[in-house]
Amino acid sequence: MRILIVEDEKKIAEFMKRGLKEEGYAVDVAYDGEEGQFLARTNTYDLIILDLMLPKLDGISLCKGLRKEGLAVPVIMVTAKDAVEDKVAGLDSGADDYITKPFAFEELLARIRALLRKKGVPATTLLVDELTLDLVTHKVTRRGAEIILTAKEYALLEYMMRNAGKVITRTMISEHVWDTDFDTFTNVIDVYINYLRKKIDAGNSKKLIQTVRGRGYMLKG
Ligand code: CA
Repeated sequence: MRILIVEDEKKIAEFMKRGLKEEGYAVDVAYDGEEGQFLARTNTYDLIILDLMLPKLDGISLCKGLRKEGLAVPVIMVTAKDAVEDKVAGLDSGADDYITKPFAFEELLARIRALLRKKGVPATTLLVDELTLDLVTHKVTRRGAEIILTAKEYALLEYMMRNAGKVITRTMISEHVWDTDFDTFTNVIDVYINYLRKKIDAGNSKKLIQTVRGRGYMLKG
């Protein structure tokens, strides 16, 4: 899942970016409203964390603008003070949720999970055949045996499990699992698919990760 952070306070932005990357999210950061608007229009995000007070373009105007353009991406508004009018203005501008500074990182993670859940996945566990992925603890098992994954492998598997049974192209993977630093001319996606295959399918007669020739990959139970 790919997240955009729009936050002008560099320390807070870096803190969130580091924490979210450790959780396996792909993260881009914009330090003012205009840059945030540009990135939100240019890339495909699964969620946006949007500060209310921003240089060049404030969070409310940015959110309103994105909604006007028809972008339905979930937005969490970050408000500096616990003022009721800020929360109301945030929600009225089209934000789905808000969080008040200072906040505990665990609370932000829980709100992100809740919003991604609303987007179409009803449970905290993804299940494909005998493969399970716990979105809260990040524990992955196949037939009950735990599989240890790196953050990036986890992110890739989560994306594939959310789209199980569908063809996933390399472009889709790069848009949802990697951030803007990603170089599309490398074969890093294929490398990571192979890592996952070794950990998930090796030793199993039933292969869950399939190559769809000329198109991409599919995870299928
Ligand atoms: Ca700010």
